[in-house]
Parts: sequence; structure tokens; C-alpha cells
Amino acid sequence: MEQKSNTGDKMHESTELMANLNILNQCKKDIGMHRKKIDNLEDEIKEREKIIFNSCKHEWHYDETSGCCEKNRYICKTCKLYRNPYFYS
Ligand SMILES: [Zn+2]
Repeated sequence: MEQKSNTGDKMHESTELMANLNILNQCKKDIGMHRKKIDNLEDEIKEREKIIFNSCKHEWHYDETSGCCEKNRYICKTCKLYRNPYFYS
């Protein structure tokens, strides 16, 4: 009787272990998928910024919130991009 109960516990443990392993692997897969999605979205943003930078009739204004050492102190009122073509080339 005691032995039966022990086997039962062990089986329960291994089922729980398998369930946790499955969840762990699914989480890792999900992270990989989302990372890929983020990479794609970042590429998309870069492409759009490039197009916008070259097509907007920028209205530059001095950015009061930027630090004194920052090079890019001008921001367009319309597209909110910085006055730095190197960012968008
Ligand atoms: Zn602009």
C-alpha cells in the first residue's frame, strides 16, 4: 500500500515536471516570436522615418527638453523627427 502511494507521488511529480517544462518551452518560443516581431517593427519604423524625413516640409524648433550636450536640439513640429539626416539615411 505504501509502495503504491510512493509510485503515485512520483508519477504526479513527473507529470508536474513535464507540465512545467512544456510551459517553460512555450514561454521561450513566445519570447522568440515577439523578438522577431519587435525587430520587424523596428525595421518598419526606420523605413517610415526615412520616408517621412525626406517628404515632410519640416518646421524646426528648438527642443528645450534636450540636455546641453546633445547634438540634436532641433525637432520638427510636424513629424517630431530630429534635424539630423544621418539618423534617417
Ligand atoms: Zn518634419
